[in-house]
Amino acid sequence: MIIVLFGAPGVGKGTQAAILAEKLHVAHLSTGDAFRAAIRNQSEIGKVAKTYVDAGDLVPDSVVASIVEEAMQDPSFARGAILDGFPRTRAQADALAEMLQRRGLSVHRVVNIDVDDATITERLLSRGRADDTAEIIANRLDVYRQETAPLLEYYSAVDSLLVTVNGVGDVQDVNQRILDTI
Ligand code: ADP
Repeated sequence: MIIVLFGAPGVGKGTQAAILAEKLHVAHLSTGDAFRAAIRNQSEIGKVAKTYVDAGDLVPDSVVASIVEEAMQDPSFARGAILDGFPRTRAQADALAEMLQRRGLSVHRVVNIDVDDATITERLLSRGRADDTAEIIANRLDVYRQETAPLLEYYSAVDSLLVTVNGVGDVQDVNQRILDTI
């Protein structure tokens, strides 16, 4: 079962993905975490990704595809996965469909977690990650609106694939709302 958690930065994809992965006994793939680990390890991918992540810009699609392809080699992936932060562009959505098709898998649900901008900014500022400054947050929200949000239309074209869940409230309540849709 492949579940895509979708939504702007700060809607809680990472928090919810971790809980869902544990409850459903499937893998959790966060491209943001994967890039931060690559940057810490100073790998080739990390060197390329660093300038984009630091600026709050999207890492180029080809680099994203290679890190996802690598993560999918893990045997646990066949049992299912929660994708957190991927896909973020149409090219990534196409790449995902192709990678899954090769393995005889498909996306079961795209869960769009909906949170208002004021709450998002408040949450990110209090998290205090290096890319959580007011200026970089504003850029990440812009990038989300321009490059990622259009995917909602793309996924809504497939019957019963896309669901929207209110992401405001207690973490466990939001988790239950997501579970109710899958
Ligand atoms: P958030 O959702 O709060 O922005 P993430 O940890 O998901 O945090 O992402 C952090 C950064 O990693 C992004 O701003 C971007 O630079 C990079 N990144 C993560 N996922 C992708 C992706 N699918 N495509 C391109 N860049 C990505």
